Amino acid sequence: MAAKLESSIHVIEKARSHFEMVFQTIPDATIITTIADGRLIAYNRAFLEATKYTDDDLAVGSFNICDLYIDPSQRESFIKKLEIDGFVENLEFAFYGKNNDQHTALISSKKIIIDGVPHILSVIRDITGLKAIEAKLKQSEERHRLLADNAADVIWTMDLEGRFTYISPSVEKLRGYTVAEVMMQSPEEVLCPGSLLEMQKGLASSMNSVQNELPFKVYRGELEQPCKDGTTIWTEATVSGIYSEDGRFIGMLGVSRDISERKLMEAEIRRLSITDKLTQSFNRLKLDETLEQQFEWSKTSFTPFAIIILDIDHFKLVNDTYGHQVGDQVLVELVGVLNDNVRSQDVVGRWGGEEFLIILPDTSREEATGLAERLRQAVAAKIFTTAGHVTISLGVSAFKTDSSPEAIVSRADTALYQAKEKGRNRVEVM
Ligand code: GH3
Ligand code: MG
Ligand code: MG
Repeated sequence: MAAKLESSIHVIEKARSHFEMVFQTIPDATIITTIADGRLIAYNRAFLEATKYTDDDLAVGSFNICDLYIDPSQRESFIKKLEIDGFVENLEFAFYGKNNDQHTALISSKKIIIDGVPHILSVIRDITGLKAIEAKLKQSEERHRLLADNAADVIWTMDLEGRFTYISPSVEKLRGYTVAEVMMQSPEEVLCPGSLLEMQKGLASSMNSVQNELPFKVYRGELEQPCKDGTTIWTEATVSGIYSEDGRFIGMLGVSRDISERKLMEAEIRRLSITDKLTQSFNRLKLDETLEQQFEWSKTSFTPFAIIILDIDHFKLVNDTYGHQVGDQVLVELVGVLNDNVRSQDVVGRWGGEEFLIILPDTSREEATGLAERLRQAVAAKIFTTAGHVTISLGVSAFKTDSSPEAIVSRADTALYQAKEKGRNRVEVM
């Protein structure tokens, strides 16, 4: 009898030490508590590590698990669930560690009976670090989304099939179309014809580097895009590649910026740079450019072109008699007469002082001479403000086998000189 008892005790002790070993090696914090009052009956090393409590702090029977809960009502609902189901799995709860530091954990529990008294065996997994990373990720995602959604620029992504996968709402401000509408648009609806071609060329070159296993070459281009109201808008697009975590090229990220204002400003700067301030006709810069282009074009295409140089007769006298301002007014009105008598493709500009140059594309020497004569008559017939009658002398020349634009200008200049020599208010041709 005694031997049997002894052997039973031995078996129990063996079982107990076996249980103790298993209990201590569970990597997650594991505890046994009473259901009724939450007294801590047993705990393992992992629990000490998670809570930073020591064996002394947890001297058997003195520690109440309820003290760990940040929100005590969490224990109530936990116990309720345990009573109903007999177990709890991966329930999220918040608890204090020894230093009052807050933790988030997942608790899995089972009701067990020890000596006829109901207890709870709980395994607690601390997910505080995981939660922090998750929150950070969410915050960063939200921040990026917020940035994209509120940026004045349009931010978009596109998959390899050329379909939009994201477009920021600012597109509506820019083009009048909603995000949903743009999502459905074909490339032809997103870009004006010239810009579509330009972008396709640019992206083809960027894709080429991807095919050669080089990084996607960032594409930058000024593009014209149609708006819902029928107008167009100029945008500057910067497109870069999107890669998956394992380095595969999976799409494109684009930022489109409204540059309409810049385009208008550039056009205005250009206009000012080629316009004569007083007469609003073209200036010497534009005349030199046009002469050069026309000369190159005529040389290669064998199409004729002609020029007229004209100079006001005795202009000094106008200034001396009526003053410089009246002289200025004569210049302005003279340009009016010239513009009224030339074609839209002809270029009228101020060559200097009271001398003007007219470039006549696709025009023969004879045609140019005829125009010069009409101009002479029109000016002679006009009554200028205050100055009254004013005449001009004109020199005509046409493109021949000249070696430079200057040669043509020089001949017209000589013709003008001859017109002055021969008594003014006349046309000479060279
Ligand atoms: P010609 O018939 O030989 O051409 O005699 P001209 O008096 O016109 O002689 P010239 O061409 O040498 O003189 C040009 C004058 O035009 C001299 C200059 O004061 C005047 N002039 C040049 N630019 C301007 C201008 O912008 N405004 C005014 N009011 N006068 C100008
Ligand atoms: Mg002169
Ligand atoms: Mg003159």
